[in-house]
Amino acid sequence: MKKLSIALGTVFVLIFNFTFAQTLEKCGTMHNHRKLLENNPSLSSSRLQVEQIAEDWLANHPNYKKTVATIPVVFHVVYNPSIPAQNVPDSIIYSQLQVINDDYRRTNADAINTRPEFDSLATDLEIEFCLANVDPNGNFTTGINRVTTTANDFSFSPFDNKVKSDTTGGVNPWPASDYLNIWVCDMYYNGSPLVLGYAQFPGEDPATDGVVLTYQHTGYRPWDAAANPANLGRTASHEVGHYFGLRHIWGDGDCDSTDYVTDTPNAAAASQQICTLTNNTCDDAVAEPYWNGYDPPDMLENYMDYSTDACMNMFTKGQKDRMWSFLNTDRVSLLSSNKCSGTSIGEFLPSSSLIMYPNPASNSVTLEWPGEFKFERLEVVDLVGKVIVSKNISFVYAKYVVNTSDLKDGIYFIRLVDRKKSTTKKIIISK
Ligand SMILES: [Zn+2]
Repeated sequence: MKKLSIALGTVFVLIFNFTFAQTLEKCGTMHNHRKLLENNPSLSSSRLQVEQIAEDWLANHPNYKKTVATIPVVFHVVYNPSIPAQNVPDSIIYSQLQVINDDYRRTNADAINTRPEFDSLATDLEIEFCLANVDPNGNFTTGINRVTTTANDFSFSPFDNKVKSDTTGGVNPWPASDYLNIWVCDMYYNGSPLVLGYAQFPGEDPATDGVVLTYQHTGYRPWDAAANPANLGRTASHEVGHYFGLRHIWGDGDCDSTDYVTDTPNAAAASQQICTLTNNTCDDAVAEPYWNGYDPPDMLENYMDYSTDACMNMFTKGQKDRMWSFLNTDRVSLLSSNKCSGTSIGEFLPSSSLIMYPNPASNSVTLEWPGEFKFERLEVVDLVGKVIVSKNISFVYAKYVVNTSDLKDGIYFIRLVDRKKSTTKKIIISK
């Protein structure tokens, strides 16, 4: 049986790879889901229960009040030391955090590109992500767990989830009740991505829970033509959407398939790495009472489509409700996880580790600091202690550019503030 599956597996990978090479398949979540169902037929009924419980919760809490949820994340970077590129630098991980934070809080700069017909549906999900700084043993962590492997890559049948276990060349997840686990590894096969990433839906096995990203499409890489059109870190925005229960906006079928959300127009299929905004593959005017006789175009700007990263810029209110229904049921333990207790565990950023340039500065100054430190606020203070600028930087990692064009020449202090402590450095403005 085993030999047979290996032989079949080879054929499967070749066909799979060929298909993906033609279309640049973004996401393997449904493949992973089907494989989990194959291996565990009882999952089907337990998944239905999880869906039902989330749906009932939403029906009973139509006006639920949200406070911003902060989800602790650990990145497991699994790499072969003989292939250094797999060991992506911290800066890439920080940029990935920034992208999902911006996309989930709708602070993404390209939010202005949402078409007028969808603008009122686009929303801040009120979900943020922080790098864990407490590991499962209670010790300090940077939230980036680097693990070596002897595997050259994880492209062969990635849905075996070998990257998720230390007995199969990967690394075990940290408890899924407390952390969003994101594995970063190589899922390229013969120079082409077998899949850019995949996730596990709520209510499936905690031993494999989380998101897997191929390293070539992890982080914000606008310079990376090779990763184009999936080079802006939005594979993660998409996969984390699945992790919170979202489906593809075409419902993985035709116009009659559903993503269990009313305010995403039907689509006949995925938008395969395009941004053709005139596409309108299904007639919603009659089929969907929600649209009240109007037939909207396909929503290519939705993160849960397969359009280009540069095309995507929104989640809808219906998607937010669906995510929060899981966040309050199957994934509710994340809401009380304290694995990002921040710099309050004793470490604080020494001012020597806060890099600031140029100094003297004129119209802007760039700050850089080790990414495991995060702050609530940035302040610019004058010589008499008056706060002149105050910015929320609660989901900024490692780098921030301060606009100083409104400041007059003189000496100021730049202060990064956490709940209880702050780090301060002197800056001279000279124009
Ligand atoms: Zn997907």
